[in-house]
Amino acid sequence: MPQNQELTELIADAKEQVLYLQELGVDSYDVQLAAPPVERPVREGTDKAAAPPPAVISEAPPRAVPVETPSRRPAGSRLAALPSLSKRKTPSVERGASDPVLSDEQDKEIATLKMTADSTAAVFNNEPTPEESLFGEIGPALPDSADTIETIRADIGNCTRCPLFEGRTQIVHTTGNFEADLMFIGEAPGADEDAQGFPFVGRAGQLLTKIIEGIGYKREDVAIGNINRCRPPGNRAPTLPEAHTCRPFLLREIAVIRPKVIVVMGNTALHNLLDTKAGITRVRGTFQDYFGVKVMPTFHPAYLLRDPHKKREVWEDMKKVRDYLQAKPESEFPL
Ligand code: URA
Repeated sequence: MPQNQELTELIADAKEQVLYLQELGVDSYDVQLAAPPVERPVREGTDKAAAPPPAVISEAPPRAVPVETPSRRPAGSRLAALPSLSKRKTPSVERGASDPVLSDEQDKEIATLKMTADSTAAVFNNEPTPEESLFGEIGPALPDSADTIETIRADIGNCTRCPLFEGRTQIVHTTGNFEADLMFIGEAPGADEDAQGFPFVGRAGQLLTKIIEGIGYKREDVAIGNINRCRPPGNRAPTLPEAHTCRPFLLREIAVIRPKVIVVMGNTALHNLLDTKAGITRVRGTFQDYFGVKVMPTFHPAYLLRDPHKKREVWEDMKKVRDYLQAKPESEFPL
């Protein structure tokens, strides 16, 4: 290959890698390259001088993260923050020529996974069109969804897509009112949720019920879900691949429920709904946007159990949610 062409391809490749890393939220990347071999004059009679210095590998090579593939969506747009679902590789769907022959059951599983990936893509890949207003573009709206909660549950099935299935008693699905204006999203089930099969039924859940009632709703009026549906061992936070494996089902549910406000509780919910690395302490209390849906980040109720002083901040955040939901549209101006 001519050198110029090779160089152009290398640069294009590097750009693609950078876009990929940006999409994963990496904003700086330190690579230590091995020093190129020093060309030394060969001295007759000494073979040591001719030997190139050994290549130094000072770091383990970066690990591949089994999450989304890069999208070509414009960086910085809300679309860029959305998972590129059609391009996402479901790890167990990937098979090479040297794979062993699969049983009928494994083939069925793969077909289900493909179907899941396709229908997930169908939710988000009819790229939402930006809404126009008098003041210009106000960002893309949630795409229409042909899904139902039942089809999403069926796609989840007896899920074994990530290692969390090994330790679960049962899958803990989103519950409540699937036509709710208000939705709450947490991290993952704990021991009580794993035992009972419903989200937020332990001590943190009882506090969440009080928070919901504090702004004038009943628990059954709202939708409640988690980023991950299986309990992580020892109540640890889900890893990025675990969260990214489970998240598409929640995103599909949001497109079905179409709430007016989503409250994300804690860092895991914040990071995985909005694809941000911003910390909850910094952004709590300020409305964010998810395809035209208002998103209020606030502290997780389990954190409030550990530090009750933070309840005041959550109350301030929840009043904003209540006021937004109770605000009369301009068309109902009473005078
Ligand atoms: N914590 C969560 O994040 N979710 C639950 O369902 C329970 C506790």
